[in-house]
Amino acid sequence: MIVLSAASELYPLVKTGGLADVAGALPAALAAQGVRMVSFVPGYPAVLTALAEAEVVHHFPELMGEPARILRGVAAGVEVLALDAPHLFNRAGNPYLGPDGRDWPDNAQRFAAFSSAAAMVARGLIAGFQPDVVHAHDWQAALTAAHMHYGGGPPAVVTIHNLAFQGLFPASVFPLLGLPPQAFAVEGVEYYGGLSFLKGGLATASAITTVSPSYAEEILGPREGMGLDGLLRARESVLTGILNGIDTRIWDPASDPLIAQSYTAKSLARRSANRKALARRFNLKADDGLLVAVVSRFTAQKGIDLLAAAIAPLVRDGVSFALLGSGERGLEEALAREASAQPGRVGLITGYDEALSHVVQAGADAILVPSRFEPCGLTQMYGLRYGALPIVARVGGLADTVIDANEAALAAGVATGFQHAPESADALIHAVRRAQALHRRGGPWQALQKNAMAADVSWARSAARYAALYSSLSKV
Ligand code: ADP
Repeated sequence: MIVLSAASELYPLVKTGGLADVAGALPAALAAQGVRMVSFVPGYPAVLTALAEAEVVHHFPELMGEPARILRGVAAGVEVLALDAPHLFNRAGNPYLGPDGRDWPDNAQRFAAFSSAAAMVARGLIAGFQPDVVHAHDWQAALTAAHMHYGGGPPAVVTIHNLAFQGLFPASVFPLLGLPPQAFAVEGVEYYGGLSFLKGGLATASAITTVSPSYAEEILGPREGMGLDGLLRARESVLTGILNGIDTRIWDPASDPLIAQSYTAKSLARRSANRKALARRFNLKADDGLLVAVVSRFTAQKGIDLLAAAIAPLVRDGVSFALLGSGERGLEEALAREASAQPGRVGLITGYDEALSHVVQAGADAILVPSRFEPCGLTQMYGLRYGALPIVARVGGLADTVIDANEAALAAGVATGFQHAPESADALIHAVRRAQALHRRGGPWQALQKNAMAADVSWARSAARYAALYSSLSKV
């Protein structure tokens, strides 16, 4: 079974969020299931650097107005095909946003080209390489499925990592997509008179997946469906939720080179060196109170406004905070105000720092994820793996991966963290206080850490589900 993955991010080459982690981890996880996954990615600068030795396997005399090539190589152990189109992708910084923080004005052209090139590769453009299935991730790659539907090719799976990002563009862009006129229709890419790349993919895919069972249900309703719930209900028979895993080789406290002291569930006492290192990095007073961390995009989706409102009352109770992230200016400022009001108790590092995120997971007592909605969420799974107990909103993949320390779960000895009702600073505060009460008791806290660290957050189960999905499609 050969699967062409088309994704606009790939850890460790390009990452803005969970999509990169998933796209980077799936090839190895699927190899164990007998699936060969080759990853098609845009030729961003970091990708081209990693593929410096790559072979050129195709020349486009013209793609969106300029010549382009496809390169083939191996990067970070993953078989990669890169779309080297300098006029579209050879730009520094964020893959989607210009230096002014706004979407690149030619994002429609960039990802229309990416999807149509993926479609050509799926149809056998490269000699000796014929995928059985193409797996397109999010709006940037979703049109690959529309190309398969209207122009033929192997079956296409579209995975929704976040329904909030839909690739909406004016109808005037349609001629650039390379799709036949009938694709501009309610059954195709048309969306309220304009275009939605994601909708076009969801309407035409052979199968749709999203990254947790709870989110798969939530998006069928108007609240989380974000305008696409009607379409998703119509396509419910081909929609499934397959929970993300994490790369347990990269995220392993027993061997993580980025942390001060390695440890396992049997040597939790060794974790204290990491707690000290974390406190130092965030200028926190080293005391024994509950140390809660956040590693996140700072957006309303992630509930960062609720966090800002909860900090002061929780600091009065003796809780400390280590906050790592970046995002909306107003939220960054709100957190900065809390940090300067509570020196030594609230540490804020604004920015994106992959290595520091490991230090945080290894040293924090708890990792807080108060999202309003969360397709899957990875940070809480890193927390489980590292014994930083997750405190999460009861939504989407957060609800599916954390077992709340309620009385029944505590009695049964299965709890792995704390859940709270979403969208409520009071509920969040209450959950942190429950965590604090357990933390003070020592022994029961360690029991939860052991449960958390024993939870299966690997890709094994989910990779088997993807493999089964691919083979069911390729047999049709
Ligand atoms: P999303 O993809 O919605 O941002 P996820 O929880 O699925 O949320 O994935 C976020 C990923 O990005 C995780 O790997 C997390 O550790 C990482 N991350 C987010 N913000 C930062 C940051 N400021 N520094 C380092 N890593 C970050």
